[in-house]
Amino acid sequence: MMKMHNPTRLRLLFVVAVIIPCLVLGVIAVRSIDREEAFVAMQLQRTFDAELVYTVSVINTELDRIMEELAGSAPAEVPASPGPSFTAWRSRSELVRVPFLLSPKLEIVWPALGADLTEDDRAFLNWNREFVTDKALVPVYQNVALVYKDEISKLAGTPFDRKDLAAEAQEKAEPAGGAKPPGERVVPVAAAPASREAKSRMNEAAVEQRALSQIEKDPDVRQQVLDQARAKGQRTEPRNVAPSTRFSPAKQPAPQESIYISEPRRFSEITAQGDRGLIPRFIDEKLSLLFWQRRPAGGFLGCVISDDAFRGRLAGLLPNVYTPSRILTILDEAGRPLLAPDAEEKRDWRRPFAAREISGKLPRWEVAAYLTDPDAVAARAGTTTTILWVLIVLIFLTIAGGGLSILQTIRSEMQLVRQKTTFVANVSHELKTPLTSIRMFAEMLKQGRQPDRAKQDKYLDLMVSETERLTRLINNVLDFSRAERGERKYEKRRLDAAWLTESLIEGQRVRLEHNGFAVSFRNDLGEAFIDGDEEALKQAVLNLLSNAEKYSGEDKRVDVEVSGTEGSVLINVKDRGRGVPPGDSKRIFEEFYRVDDAITAKAGGSGLGLPIALRIVRDHGGDIHYFPRDGGGSVFQIRLPLRGPS
Ligand code: ADP
Repeated sequence: MMKMHNPTRLRLLFVVAVIIPCLVLGVIAVRSIDREEAFVAMQLQRTFDAELVYTVSVINTELDRIMEELAGSAPAEVPASPGPSFTAWRSRSELVRVPFLLSPKLEIVWPALGADLTEDDRAFLNWNREFVTDKALVPVYQNVALVYKDEISKLAGTPFDRKDLAAEAQEKAEPAGGAKPPGERVVPVAAAPASREAKSRMNEAAVEQRALSQIEKDPDVRQQVLDQARAKGQRTEPRNVAPSTRFSPAKQPAPQESIYISEPRRFSEITAQGDRGLIPRFIDEKLSLLFWQRRPAGGFLGCVISDDAFRGRLAGLLPNVYTPSRILTILDEAGRPLLAPDAEEKRDWRRPFAAREISGKLPRWEVAAYLTDPDAVAARAGTTTTILWVLIVLIFLTIAGGGLSILQTIRSEMQLVRQKTTFVANVSHELKTPLTSIRMFAEMLKQGRQPDRAKQDKYLDLMVSETERLTRLINNVLDFSRAERGERKYEKRRLDAAWLTESLIEGQRVRLEHNGFAVSFRNDLGEAFIDGDEEALKQAVLNLLSNAEKYSGEDKRVDVEVSGTEGSVLINVKDRGRGVPPGDSKRIFEEFYRVDDAITAKAGGSGLGLPIALRIVRDHGGDIHYFPRDGGGSVFQIRLPLRGPS
């Protein structure tokens, strides 16, 4: 406690113990609130993403299956006039729309120009003649991660080590049951049959997998490889959608680039890579899929796939499209959903919560997930944020408020300690002064140095008056400690307040006049009966009188007036001193409080006179007020309730 007397130290303590922890808490809290929404969004995105990955893989499997189905249903033998067998093919598979046949020299055998051509045949020839006869090029789409896997490996910072990846891939290939008895030779299962070629294929697959995931999680790497692709003349294009994980659709997210880059190729180049395949072509911005298959006898057989049948097949693959939390659908090349609940007509399909491109065979197509009710999710996140904010503000206020009130308590305790110390010093001084004069007069009388009888009487009066001053001081201190302990008792009886005041003034007059004071007393009321303890009330008035004496300046006069209002008697003690500064007029009634000025310091005192007087008067149902006196000085007014008529 004593150490804390230094206010700077106290302030420092407050800053260290309250302000800094509060600020740290605030910063942590604000940051975690900021992350709250992002965290919820991330969780949702992960869930959706897993579904999207699954759907993409299902679609890709379906594409393979469609190819197999078409190859399986295609006529094995094609006669010189293939019309009827192609009609039969079309009736076997709803996916077949326009069959075609190419000679080994890439001449169009069917649709035969001479035969009567259907609308579809004509459209096929119109759009594809140049391409299938190897005269025109069409863009072929490829995943940039696969084309640039080695560059991605370098850009990733830690280049993918093919050896590690091979080991990893091998581990995956091994059957479960790694816990073999120690010492037993472990023969890697995959190693035995795996030829050198199979091994390197496995390595490549692992590298491709790494490249795919790297490009997905690192937008910088993706941007860099796309830039590289562009620099090499490969074409990049924007995606149809701009996925955004923000709940509130405040800002349109920046459109992303597709990870499928394209390069123009000839039919012969495309078909050189295998025995069958699918070629996507954009005709009037509409996707058209060409199926082709190499014939054992040379040349190619194929068809334009029926758009409706194809879309129907994919739509049938989708898991539950509409759930209370999300809508999952496939978007076509125009960004329109293949399947959408009726109620969702107005939805902005270009802004999914999460989306994935499907394949180079289906360029511009995506699987996309949307929040069914983004507002509800945003509102939920908003409520959590609000609750967190309220909690933070509450905690903050509690800590700060608690800290401040502790500081306040420490301060007032410190002030009290200081006041008590000053009080002891003041009281000792106050005791000493009257004792000194009593002793002086008593010695003079004892030594018989004053033969004048009248003077002797005056000395005796002064001694009595000084003794009274001593008594008053001691009474004040005793009363204070008694009142502090709640032990003060009053003996109340019927009293004339005017008489009580007058007799008190007359008792003090000699001493006051001896000290150069002009004393006046006026009674406007005559008799003023109250219920009161005579000694206590005398003490209260005496304290005011003594203050008037102590704090008077040059103009030494004390005027006491007794007047009345309805039901009350007013005792005004007035002086022509320097008055009480406005800021102190309430505080002077507090225990130990003394105005901080030169006159008060010189006058000496305990800071108990007014609080004790106030307590006594209040215990009698009255009050004391201070007013500045007109023309300078103070008026201390005691108001006491008059006794009822009984
Ligand atoms: P004390 O007189 O022992 O200091 P009090 O409680 O009686 O204690 O008074 C409190 C303070 O009020 C004094 O220290 C003084 O500054 C101020 N005060 C009281 N009476 C007067 C007065 N009549 N004129 C000017 N100041 C006064």
